Amino acid sequence: MIHVIVNPSSGSGPKREALSELRAAMQAQGRKVIEYRTTCPGDATRYAASIRDEADMVISWGGDGTAREVASGLVGSNTPMLVCPAGTENLFAKELRIPSHPQRLAGIVAAGRTVECDLGIVNGRDFLMIIGVGFDGEVVRRLTAVRRGHITHLSYFWPIWRTFWEHDYPRMRVVADGEEIFDDFGLAFVGNISRYAVGLRICRDASFDDGLLDLVVFTCQEQTALVLHAAWTLLRRHPLKGNVIYRQFRNARIETDRPTPSQTDGDVGPNCPLDISVHPGKLRLLVPPSQLPYGLWPWRGETPL
Ligand SMILES: [Mg+2]
Repeated sequence: MIHVIVNPSSGSGPKREALSELRAAMQAQGRKVIEYRTTCPGDATRYAASIRDEADMVISWGGDGTAREVASGLVGSNTPMLVCPAGTENLFAKELRIPSHPQRLAGIVAAGRTVECDLGIVNGRDFLMIIGVGFDGEVVRRLTAVRRGHITHLSYFWPIWRTFWEHDYPRMRVVADGEEIFDDFGLAFVGNISRYAVGLRICRDASFDDGLLDLVVFTCQEQTALVLHAAWTLLRRHPLKGNVIYRQFRNARIETDRPTPSQTDGDVGPNCPLDISVHPGKLRLLVPPSQLPYGLWPWRGETPL
């Protein structure tokens, strides 16, 4: 039995047609499919937890928030999860090289391979992808305050613009695996995956199956520094800069000198202080079979989609 957990508020009309096509393709393979539409935040976790022992596979149909909720319900079980890119950003699906075409998704259901994925924990709550502390926590907090249903990239424009001019960079103290590595003004990111919004790879070297989280701290106190950091990050050269810290860890604590918001997987996260750790291999994921032809970046195993 395959359970498809659908977030009805993420994704546009064509995504709904793709879902019908995927369901038809799986039924043509002779599989039984149950579709569940979520009704409120937390519902995907509750439903996934309720069927985790009986399901052969769970499909997350939505964006990154839906993927994280479904993952929370499946933590520690052997049931594999397929993350479909049916939201706005779909960072996690992109990191796993999951295609969006329904026939190719059905191909992964039939012949995909399973991999183990680490799970991050921040203040007792799971995260799958990335945490932002400070600047982008403020952006997500502002966006969430005005959000109504489906969001697009354009929805981020005003929250980013306002935050860019108004954000008050906190003084941060970062301790990683028992060692104080930062005590200055700035913004920080913790990643289980390399991808961040709009193609940036802030946690450039992160991999979801190495039992470690990647930490990036940018020293920053005003707009010019932020623009320069963004430019270097676009070029993926930021870990080489003197005022950027890049390292991997198992346990970390981030404290700030004033109330500072965070974002967790694109949603509003807890305020600082943050205690962050990693649970290695807690999740089973279904990914494309490895014999797919590799493309432009063979050393990373990138598949052109
Ligand atoms: Mg890792």
